[in-house]
Parts: sequence; C-alpha cells; structure tokens
Amino acid sequence: MKKRMSAYYVRIRPQLNGTYSVHNEDCPFIPGREERIFLGEFRSFKEAAAKAELYFPEISCCNYCSGECTQYGNMGIRNLCNSLFMSIS
Ligand SMILES: [Zn+2]
Repeated sequence: MKKRMSAYYVRIRPQLNGTYSVHNEDCPFIPGREERIFLGEFRSFKEAAAKAELYFPEISCCNYCSGECTQYGNMGIRNLCNSLFMSIS
C-alpha cells in the first residue's frame, strides 16, 4: 500500500547543532511562513531530505514528525538521517 504524499518544509535557520530541520505539513512544530522553504510533496522524509540538501549542507529530520527516526534519540536521529542521505547521493 502506498503512503499518501505530504508536503515537506525545511527551516531556513539552523538549529544549535548546525543542522536544518525538515518537517512535514502536519507537524505542530513547523516553522512560521517566513522561516521555511517549501520542498515539495513526498512520500518520505528521505525524499524530502534529499531535496533539502540542495539548499543546505546539513539536514536533520524533526524529532517529532519524522516517525522513522524518532526511536533513535537526539544524536541518533541525526546520524541515522545522515546515513540515509549518503545512500542517496
Ligand atoms: Zn516536525
């Protein structure tokens, strides 16, 4: 069964660890209108993050709305996402 497409956004200001966070449209922590770039509609964070990498060098998935990364905790989230991104490029 295919997941539905959702809109993804990247925040234009880095977090404390220097990464730029990607959120989906349903996230309660999504950045305000002036603080985000619309990435497009994707089926997964992996696809959205690949697009976000065209804008910023360091991308992390939002802890809250990226279900696939959440179980790994803060640093693990970043590490897991980075390894996913490397497999794309
Ligand atoms: Zn989020």
